[in-house]
Amino acid sequence: MTAIDTLPPLREVIADHQLSARKSLGQNFLLDLNLTAKIARQAGDLTGCDVLEIGPGPGGLTRGLLAEGARRVLAVEKDARCLPALAQISDAYPNRLQVIEGDALEVNPLEHLTPPIRVAANLPYNIGTELLVRWLTPKQWPPFWQSLTLMFQREVAERIVALPGTKKYGRLALLAQWRAEPHIVLSLPPGAFTPPPKVSSAVVHLTALPEPRFPADAGTLNRVVAAAFNQRRKMLRSALKSVSPDIEDHLKAAGIPPTERAEQVSLEAFCALARSLYPDD
Ligand code: SAM
Repeated sequence: MTAIDTLPPLREVIADHQLSARKSLGQNFLLDLNLTAKIARQAGDLTGCDVLEIGPGPGGLTRGLLAEGARRVLAVEKDARCLPALAQISDAYPNRLQVIEGDALEVNPLEHLTPPIRVAANLPYNIGTELLVRWLTPKQWPPFWQSLTLMFQREVAERIVALPGTKKYGRLALLAQWRAEPHIVLSLPPGAFTPPPKVSSAVVHLTALPEPRFPADAGTLNRVVAAAFNQRRKMLRSALKSVSPDIEDHLKAAGIPPTERAEQVSLEAFCALARSLYPDD
C-alpha cells in the first residue's frame, strides 16, 4: 500500500490526540487511508471544486479528499477534541482546509464556499437523513451542490435508491430521484470502521439534475408524498383525504387508481397529482 500523504497513520493520530470514539456523536472512524481515498474518488473529479465535508473527525476522509485534488475542503466538526488533528492536516495542505467547529444542523457553511461545490461525508448516522433531506429540498434548484457522496447505514442507502413496488420505496426515494440521480457506489462491512457499528454501510453518490425529472411544485409534492407514505398501507383515496376533499378526482386526473397504495405509484404519477392539486404552483 502506498501512503496517500506524509502525515502520521490515523491510529497514531487517534492515540496522540486521545480521540476515543463517542457513541453520542455517531463516531465510527475510517482509519484505512486507501479506503478514504477510494471514497473520495467516488465523489468525481475534485480538482477545481470546493468540497463540504460534515464530521471530519480525525480526518481520514479529509485527507483522502485533499490527496485526490480538492481545491479546498470546508469541514464542519462538532467535537472540539478533533481540532488539533485537523490543524495538522491544514498545515500539510496550506490554504486548502478550513475547519468550522459547530453543529452541521446549525451552521451555514455556504458563505465559505465557492462553486463548483461537491459534498462528501462519512455522516454521523443520527443526522444523516435530516441533512440529506435539507440538501434535496432547497428553495432554489439547481442547489448549491453538484454532487453528494455520503455514507449511510445500508438500509438508508437502499431507501434512497428504491423503486416503486418495493418495501423500501418512500419519501426519501422520491425526493432523491425527482431532482437527482442517486446510485449506491460502495458497500462497507461493519469491520471497515473503528469501532465497528452494528450494521453494514454504503456510500451513495447523488448527482444534481439541472431540472426536475417531471414538473411539480416542491412544497406540494413534498406534502402529498409525506401524507401518502404516512399511511402507506391505506388506499390513496383514504391516505390523501386530508390533502383535498376532491382527492378522487385529482387521482383520476393524474391517472392513478384511487384504490392504489402509495408504494405502487411512480414518481411521474406523484408529480402529475401535485400538478392537478395545485395547477398554478
Ligand atoms: N469522517 C470521519 C471518518 O470518516 O473517520 C468521522 C466520521 S464519524 C461517522 C462522524 C463524525 O461526525 C464524527 O467526527 C462526529 O464528531 C461528527 N459529528 C457528529 N455530530 C455532528 C454534528 N451535528 N455536526 C458536525 N459534526 C458532527
